[in-house]
Amino acid sequence: MIPVTKAYLPEKEKYQSYVSDIFDRAWLTNNGCLLQELEQRLTQHLGVRNLILVANGSLALQLAYKALGLTGEIITTPFSFAATTSTLVWEGLTPVFADIDPHTFNLDPANIAAQITSNTTAIVPVHVFGNPCAVEAIQKVADQHQLKVIYDAAHAFDTQYKGQSVLNYGDISTLSFHATKLFHTIEGGAVITNDDQLAAKIRLLINFGISGPSKIESLGTNAKMSEFQAAMGLCVLDEIDNIKQQRAKVWHKYVEDLTKVVSFQQWSQHSDNNYAYAPVLFESEQQLLEAEAYLKQNNILPRRYFHPSLDTLTYLKAKQICKHSRDIASRILCLPIYPTLNEREQNIILNVLKGLYQGNSDQMLSFSVC
Ligand SMILES: *Cc1c(COP(=O)(O)O)cnc(C)c1O
Repeated sequence: MIPVTKAYLPEKEKYQSYVSDIFDRAWLTNNGCLLQELEQRLTQHLGVRNLILVANGSLALQLAYKALGLTGEIITTPFSFAATTSTLVWEGLTPVFADIDPHTFNLDPANIAAQITSNTTAIVPVHVFGNPCAVEAIQKVADQHQLKVIYDAAHAFDTQYKGQSVLNYGDISTLSFHATKLFHTIEGGAVITNDDQLAAKIRLLINFGISGPSKIESLGTNAKMSEFQAAMGLCVLDEIDNIKQQRAKVWHKYVEDLTKVVSFQQWSQHSDNNYAYAPVLFESEQQLLEAEAYLKQNNILPRRYFHPSLDTLTYLKAKQICKHSRDIASRILCLPIYPTLNEREQNIILNVLKGLYQGNSDQMLSFSVC
């Protein structure tokens, strides 16, 4: 079976040696030395000012909203993973969707401006599949209306924009380090900000608001990352360049072989792909469903990221229709991409898709993965 992604696992002995050290110290969580080491290394690796490791990417978003004191309506994108919207609702905020640009799949700044009301306090864009948003245009809209900007940068690990980390834009950026992400800590995430005071506030929030022995300074929650997760992060970070190189190879082969079959996301001119995902766009949903079915018959499991468009969520009170997001969501498929996907396996995927396009669907069924 070929899944859409496989979590990268380091050498078992290397991870075990970290675990053995954790046992010796008997310090399992609460700002342990592995967590501190990972925070330092990630801060440097990404080129950011403040990075706070947390338990997962969803909590990273919730902490960002809380730390900035957001209220009322938040303008966000319907073309994302469920968490971008669910975290807003969970924090008592009202998501208001602006439509995406049908080529970049990111929020269209002109559509953001059109959704602003007197109740709007912030914009939560997503760098979808790691593709940087129109960050300058978004900041301009935010400045004109005194809105905060929180980037859900869950896909944008190692994404550079005009020569620096895209995480440096906006008031806060958040990362997810879930096992399926480009860089992972099994479960985990981070909050990134240039504002030192905001960073100090978030450090309080992640540990129940406790600032010292017998001192509870503010409301807080538990969003701490453990030493076992930090150990995984240290192992994966050692290999991140290799991981990206291997993913790049897979990605370029998809682009070379499939240009006539599908279309691709339009990437920012000021940035390079980080190869976190391999999304391809079909001409129609019908064509996508056919391709998905044939891939499944050949034991290949792509995923419909992101489908459904979040403006169709039934738990939301306000009903909105974002035309471009619904259209893209209906036609997009993420193909398998991970470091251990070998050439033979990728050729099967490519042959199935090319065969479908040429109408040789019977022949395709003879390809086999195992
Ligand atoms: C993965 C993801 C999240 C949530 O991160 P978790 O670590 O799984 O909580 C949020 N937003 C986007 C866009 C994601 O892809």
